[in-house]
Amino acid sequence: MAHRRRRRPARDTTAQLALEIYERIEKLHAELLRRRTEAPAPAEIDLQIRASVHSAERERAAAAFAALLTERMEEEIAQRVAARSPLVPGHVYCFWCDSARCAHAAPPHSRAVFAGYEPNGLPRWEEFASFCLAVKTPRVHELHEEPPRPFTLFMHGGLLTKRQLAEFGATSTTFRILCQAAVGYFLLGGDDGARKTAVTLQVVESRAGRGTPALALNIVGRTPAGGHLVEAVVHMPDQRLAELFQKVRGRIRDLGLRRPGPERDREIVSCLRHAAAGIEKIYRQESRRTKHARLRHRDPSRPAANALSDTARAGKGDFFNDRRSTTCIVLGPRGRTHVFNANGKHVTSLVAGGEDIERRLHTTQWVPMPDEEREALKARILGAREE
Ligand SMILES: [Zn+2]
Repeated sequence: MAHRRRRRPARDTTAQLALEIYERIEKLHAELLRRRTEAPAPAEIDLQIRASVHSAERERAAAAFAALLTERMEEEIAQRVAARSPLVPGHVYCFWCDSARCAHAAPPHSRAVFAGYEPNGLPRWEEFASFCLAVKTPRVHELHEEPPRPFTLFMHGGLLTKRQLAEFGATSTTFRILCQAAVGYFLLGGDDGARKTAVTLQVVESRAGRGTPALALNIVGRTPAGGHLVEAVVHMPDQRLAELFQKVRGRIRDLGLRRPGPERDREIVSCLRHAAAGIEKIYRQESRRTKHARLRHRDPSRPAANALSDTARAGKGDFFNDRRSTTCIVLGPRGRTHVFNANGKHVTSLVAGGEDIERRLHTTQWVPMPDEEREALKARILGAREE
């Protein structure tokens, strides 16, 4: 009995200290949420952190611990917020699943555009040509020209929710498409594998939880290779589309700060029409220009212009195999990263940040290329130039 009495105060003290840590974690979590203007809500936080205690460099250890704890909690919060956000770039919101990440939320292939909601809130994707036929657009014959002449089908959001039932999101403020422009077809995928592609540009008003509604440009479309156009566009050697998207995205965001009303609505519509016309223009020029002229037109400061010279100068440690996509990577100066296929044909070039490169090496997505393989590839890449 005496033994137990002696230990109880010690147990109370440790329990008390642990409770205090719990309270501090709760406070820290609330503070991090507050910065995102969100109210605290029940959350499960998985914390795996390492603290070195009674260390000779105590101050540094404490600072490292504090930084790590905050970072872990921020990660957790960012993931949760992203998972809940009704606007996932490249996707529409599926009211049937109450998610923008389900299989229904993105177009099934590169020629599909968003054709509105089913009564039960499921997104409907349609081949651009059949959609044009269904809405009887007069220019549908242009889709069958070789190469196709892209044009735009513009519609207000009300038309997209016309069949949708109110209990399946027709009047929802979570994800509301104000208007959209479907543009097609244009040829994407390089000189060999160029395939018909269409894209749906949407101006969307979305609201996460109790947050204020935000206005955004949503670029919905697949590349012929199956990627999301909104992500793939930044890696394209020809940056005109990426630059256009960037500009429109900024304008829509600015319009989001303006007072809602008919005047803002008119500007939103005009901005979207302008964006669609921009895409048409890029790909009309494309179809007229020869490959040679297009290459000459390319800005020499673009990374692709350096693909061959960088390869010629690249050292032993600059060649990698990409394990996920069976392509080969050649690193050049200033973050220039060139992607070739196994036959030495240039696929794309981009400028990657040091962190990006580090990450891919770290996750072993890129593995150093063996000596003989490297020499053979180099010969194929540089040999291709002579053809
Ligand atoms: Zn769904």
